[in-house]
Amino acid sequence: MFEKILIANRGEIALRVLRACKDLGIPTVAVHSTADADAMHVRLADESVCIGPPPARNSYLNIPALITACEITGADAVHPGYGFLSENARFAEILIEHGVQFIGPKPEHIRLMGDKIEAKRTAQRLGIPVVPGSQGGIASDAEALSVAREIGFPVLVKAAAGGGGRGMKVARSEGDLAVALATARAEAKAAFGDDAVYLEKYLETPRHIEIQVLGDGRGAAIHLGERDCSLQRRHQKVLEESPSPALNADERDAIGEIVAKAMQKLAYLGVGTVEFLYEDGRFYFIEMNTRIQVEHPVTEMITDIDLVLEQIRIASGDRLAIAQGDVKFHGHAIECRINAENPVSFRPSPGKIVHYHPPGGMGVRIDSAAYQGYAIPPHYDSLLGKLIVHGKTRAECLMRLRRSIDEFVVDGVETTLPLFSALVRDSDFVDGNYHIHWLERFLAKGAVGI
Ligand code: ADP
Repeated sequence: MFEKILIANRGEIALRVLRACKDLGIPTVAVHSTADADAMHVRLADESVCIGPPPARNSYLNIPALITACEITGADAVHPGYGFLSENARFAEILIEHGVQFIGPKPEHIRLMGDKIEAKRTAQRLGIPVVPGSQGGIASDAEALSVAREIGFPVLVKAAAGGGGRGMKVARSEGDLAVALATARAEAKAAFGDDAVYLEKYLETPRHIEIQVLGDGRGAAIHLGERDCSLQRRHQKVLEESPSPALNADERDAIGEIVAKAMQKLAYLGVGTVEFLYEDGRFYFIEMNTRIQVEHPVTEMITDIDLVLEQIRIASGDRLAIAQGDVKFHGHAIECRINAENPVSFRPSPGKIVHYHPPGGMGVRIDSAAYQGYAIPPHYDSLLGKLIVHGKTRAECLMRLRRSIDEFVVDGVETTLPLFSALVRDSDFVDGNYHIHWLERFLAKGAVGI
């Protein structure tokens, strides 16, 4: 096992990783920018190192500073969390070259899945169903047109290097296609420095359902069921739940088995998520994330498996200790991503938290680095914390979620709590009757009041 783990992240995920390290008895090193000197992960870690000024490119993305921090503290492993350098294959390689273990997949798998065209090709080769679309990248407008005619409009132009919903444009008819291609290319070039795009059939009202996997890099791999992440705003997840209200046990087992088999063939190492769109009883692969995800706690709550702890164990060379037959799903879990944002305009609301009182009681978990008196810096994403609730049934989970939202006090900054308060009382949501565009329509109706 590792001697000391450096956590190359901030906020709630740094704290989440730190907790797993403590449960394993492993000393931790926090790194932080000057803006995060008072952050909770810095306070709770055994050691901390300041790695640069507030902009992430000079601190949390600063590879030389992170390597130096490993060297001066003697950390022999790095947990990258999510975002920042978590899907940077080069970072993983540099760490390995310096004799430091990267707590994540093999660099070649990060690279493979980071290119969405390659990822889709690989998925297909491994027997995973994919969204109909171009075989690889689109070289010209003429090629795009012929592919679009073949799969039928509407089509979606997507960036090969995509992430965070950027570089994605819908073309509803032939007349729209040239503009969609040009804007997707320009957006992709600006966001990722790579203008490669591909084409996919645009599904009108699918759900986003993803499968959590765990592999030991030697051919053993299991799935831990699904998460339904259909509630999105601008392609960003807002609330996630497991199990999905849309799936039955047979569908879950069937897709889980396909994904687990694929990961066994790939000899995938660590945690990963295979993302699908689901429509009319069929699954269509869209991408794979080769890291721990924001929404991982809903899976932990219904499986009783600590994903970060397993991730650390496997990275240290342990074999997978859990067989597929050992995985039992019990009850229902929902996660709300509470952001420090105006709940109507979604404008970020950094600043000092004057009062903070998180909810508690049976089945309630808070993953947050917030505390009373903490000043949320303006430099990073606005995730204030995650409220995760578990119940024996979805109905019980919803009752607990309602009381938790009502109990939650955050004063001094605006938060998206009013959005969740409206959501958990909406009859469509309560019935589990939603798809990936549902939340934007709900917001457009003015359903959230302040
Ligand atoms: P990113 O890497 O930018 O997050 P994804 O491929 O994961 O992009 O897609 C993000 C979201 O965009 C999905 O959850 C879904 O809401 C929407 N989306 C992606 N592909 C399609 C598609 N073919 N048809 C309809 N919506 C899609």
